[in-house]
Amino acid sequence: MSDTLVVNEIYLSLQGESTFAGLPCVFIRLTACDLRCSYCDTAYAFTEGKKKSLAEILTEVKRLAAPFSNPQLPLVELTGGEPLLQKKSLPLMKSLCDDGFTVLIETSGAHDISKIDPRVRRIMDLKCPASGEVARNRFENIAHLKATDEIKFVIGTVEDYEWAKQQIAAHKLDAICPLLFSWVHPLAPEQQSKALKKVPAKLTPISRRDLAEKIIADALPVRFQIQQHKIIWPPEQRGV
Ligand code: SF4
Repeated sequence: MSDTLVVNEIYLSLQGESTFAGLPCVFIRLTACDLRCSYCDTAYAFTEGKKKSLAEILTEVKRLAAPFSNPQLPLVELTGGEPLLQKKSLPLMKSLCDDGFTVLIETSGAHDISKIDPRVRRIMDLKCPASGEVARNRFENIAHLKATDEIKFVIGTVEDYEWAKQQIAAHKLDAICPLLFSWVHPLAPEQQSKALKKVPAKLTPISRRDLAEKIIADALPVRFQIQQHKIIWPPEQRGV
């Protein structure tokens, strides 16, 4: 079997989300995703990419990491697309951990996370209704999560908020790991790739302020987050 992955981009930036937000991070964006979330801002990664060997990827990560003297930095994150669609993402994560990196993976939650090296911090989405992909949640994954992982809800509507709140209560998610409520503004029609799902009808958009105030009013055990990289750089900019 070939030792290659299809890679969309590898770049050094700041981690924009999660409990690691703000820290330097090398992102390895892998090509392809089998979901089509309505708010997806990386549709270019569905098909664009080049084959790279594991050795080439590791060399590039180490080149980008070389200026850092602190062994804990930069973080290295596999993202996409959906990294778990490519089987070689598993040995890549293992090699990165063996090399001493703090490794994160961002995954849609639609695929089995149990085979990922246990040293990796798994940031797993639970897809809310406005994504158009709520039926793809693989709830069996919850049993595999541990305290070093994180669950992310991307919330753009009042119905997303209510749905997320129900999932936290039903699965006692706050006893497992940190929970992230990530506010998203629905994409304008001209920004939305035609490949994406439409936001289901009759959902009510929620402002970031309303989301923040609901979290406080309901005393939810979650971390509110805004994608920092979209505030620092233009939202459509790649490689940040
Ligand atoms: S899981 Fe959804 S948001 Fe993530 S890359 Fe796939 S379509 Fe985009």
